[in-house]
Amino acid sequence: MFSKILIANRGEIAVRIIRACREMGISTVAVYSGADEEALHASMADQSICIGGNAASKSYLNQNNIISAALATGAQAIHPGYGFLAENADFAELCKAHNIVFIGPTANVISKLGDKEQARQIMNKAGVPIVPGSGIAATPKEAAEAAAKIGYPLLVKARAGGGGRGIRLVQDASQLEKAFVSATEEAKGAFGDGSVYLEKYLTQVKHVEIQLLADEKGNVVSLGERECSIQRGNQKLLEESPSPAMTSQLREAMTEAAVKAAKAAKYTSVGTVEFLLDGNGNFYFMEMNTRLQVEHPVTENVTGIDIVKWQIRIADGVVLDFAQKDIEIEGASIECRINALGCGEVQFLHLPGGPGVRFDTALYQGYDVPPYYDSLLGKLIVQGKTREEAIRKMTAALSELVIDGVPNNIEEQIATVGDPVFRSGNYYTNFKPTFF
Ligand code: ADP
Ligand code: ADP
Ligand code: MG
Repeated sequence: MFSKILIANRGEIAVRIIRACREMGISTVAVYSGADEEALHASMADQSICIGGNAASKSYLNQNNIISAALATGAQAIHPGYGFLAENADFAELCKAHNIVFIGPTANVISKLGDKEQARQIMNKAGVPIVPGSGIAATPKEAAEAAAKIGYPLLVKARAGGGGRGIRLVQDASQLEKAFVSATEEAKGAFGDGSVYLEKYLTQVKHVEIQLLADEKGNVVSLGERECSIQRGNQKLLEESPSPAMTSQLREAMTEAAVKAAKAAKYTSVGTVEFLLDGNGNFYFMEMNTRLQVEHPVTENVTGIDIVKWQIRIADGVVLDFAQKDIEIEGASIECRINALGCGEVQFLHLPGGPGVRFDTALYQGYDVPPYYDSLLGKLIVQGKTREEAIRKMTAALSELVIDGVPNNIEEQIATVGDPVFRSGNYYTNFKPTFF
């Protein structure tokens, strides 16, 4: 097993990975930006190295500085977490060129699946249902021709998109050109690639995703689904497992499709296949995320499997020691993302506890939340015997949680878990506004 891993990330996920390494007896190297000198991940790791200025482009996205830090400290592997370089094929390649293991799939797989249009083609060929749509539309005229076939409403989507960016909703033909131009511009700025394609806009659908583990021997195991339909502006806010819409037949069908998808892509490591599910049990491939997901803890709760530890083992060539038949989904788990709505210093922090309550965070009292990065302050995750118990636990835990000094969304999460539509389980991605 690796003896030293560098974590190329910050915040709660860096802390989560450091904890997994510590349990596994692996020493850790944290990297941090100028603004993160006082950050928890930097003080928790066995070693920590400043890799550049406040802006992510100068630090957490600075590939050469991260590689230098790994070489200088003798780290054998790099865990990219999520966001930043986690889905960057060039970085995975650069690690390889320096004999450092990138903890994730191969560069080739990342680039194939990171191209959402190419991923659609791969899935279509493999017999996985995809949302009706087009190939790359190079001009507004090409887009208009494709749109006439698909029908409205539709989405213009960036091939390189992620994190809810590069997507535009188009209600009718009169809005198409403007949406085409603005999605292209946003994608160019955010991802350096302005290519877009079209997808039919499905309404009254749920976002349901399947968590996979795939080792280098070709074994692929599904850890069940997560329901992520509570979103705003296409960004997830609350996730749960199992999905209230799931039946054992549907789970079997979605698992089969997800495993087929992973095999078609020759996938290794942890990964997630995202689907849209309609009220009739029809589901459609949306994209595959080639990394650890923010909401992985709900799956850890209901399966008892530590996804981060397995991700590290798989990267080191370890073969899965369980098969699909060994996976059982027990109880119900819910995660609420606690987001900052502004900056500030944490004046007082009180974290809820008790059986089945977990709070993944990098906050501490006196910590000054910097304005440069992700707004995620922490993830409150609960586990109950039933969904009802999980909801009661979440309600209690949210009302106990105190983060004074940083404007946050705790109140909104309390309202969401108390909402009769959420409680009924019959909620869709339009629960909150999707497009503004
Ligand atoms: P998840 O699918 O794990 O729920 P999110 O969509 O919330 O993940 O994204 C997790 C983090 O990664 C967010 O900070 C988001 O901005 C960032 N992110 C996601 N995809 C990309 C991408 N392709 N490029 C850059 N950042 C991304
Ligand atoms: P990202 O790479 O930014 O995560 P996705 O393609 O996964 O982008 O889409 C983000 C969200 O937008 C989904 O979780 C879903 O709620 C919504 N969405 C995406 N595609 C469609 C579609 N074809 N119809 C309806 N909603 C969609
Ligand atoms: Mg997505």
